[in-house]
Amino acid sequence: SRQPIVVANWKMNKLPSEAEGYIQEVAPKLAKYPNVDTVLAGQDVLLNAMVSAAKGTSVCIGAENVYWEDRGAYTGETSPAALADLGIQVVIIGHSERRNYFRETDEMVNLKTLAALRNGLMPIIAIDEAVQLESENDHAHWIVNQVVESLKGVAIADLGRVMLAYEPTAAIGSGQAMGPEITQKSLRIIRQTVADMFGQPAADQMRILYGGSVKPTNAYELLAQPDIDGVLVGDAALDAMTFIELVSLAD
Ligand code: 13P
Repeated sequence: SRQPIVVANWKMNKLPSEAEGYIQEVAPKLAKYPNVDTVLAGQDVLLNAMVSAAKGTSVCIGAENVYWEDRGAYTGETSPAALADLGIQVVIIGHSERRNYFRETDEMVNLKTLAALRNGLMPIIAIDEAVQLESENDHAHWIVNQVVESLKGVAIADLGRVMLAYEPTAAIGSGQAMGPEITQKSLRIIRQTVADMFGQPAADQMRILYGGSVKPTNAYELLAQPDIDGVLVGDAALDAMTFIELVSLAD
């Protein structure tokens, strides 16, 4: 009942002049897969070109980060109101690279989430796993804590627009995805946490994604797990044909 979703996170890898060709290549092919939602997320300077190229297609365009105030003297930041005004529908928040390289905290992730929702955007909140945790208990606690902190103050009416993405730092860019069973375990913990906070029906309808070295050779097995509703893909999704292949595997 949860519609599968494939999200490409281009990170800082494409130029504005490359965005349009990619979208023109994938958009017509996606018509074959109406049961899969697709999002392409790009850095801010690409978004205008991406929105233009995606107009009239089924592709949603996403940003990779956002600030938590709508307007003001915050030189260099990106306003959630500006993203919405541009036609952006989705924003990735708290990606492991943001947390690790730019010191984003759970509190900042929470503020950004609330700002995205206030402006009509759909946040994809990334839950990471930066440290090697000794016990299963520590591992669960680490995940639960991020989910609780990032969803603080979210209205239950807005929860349908929220997605969570589990992205263990060690799996990102390593070529080595987490195994499907162990990933399923973590996603089950995430969904249970949402159920504890907002009730089981809300948790049942929330889409939870996995990210970290997803590619055509492992996507099917991951997506076959009961709690894995989608994938957030970096490297493999830089290639348009591979993105289509991933969408076909999610169908
Ligand atoms: P890779 O698919 O390159 O490992 O990146 C995953 C990721 O960070 C997606 O947000």
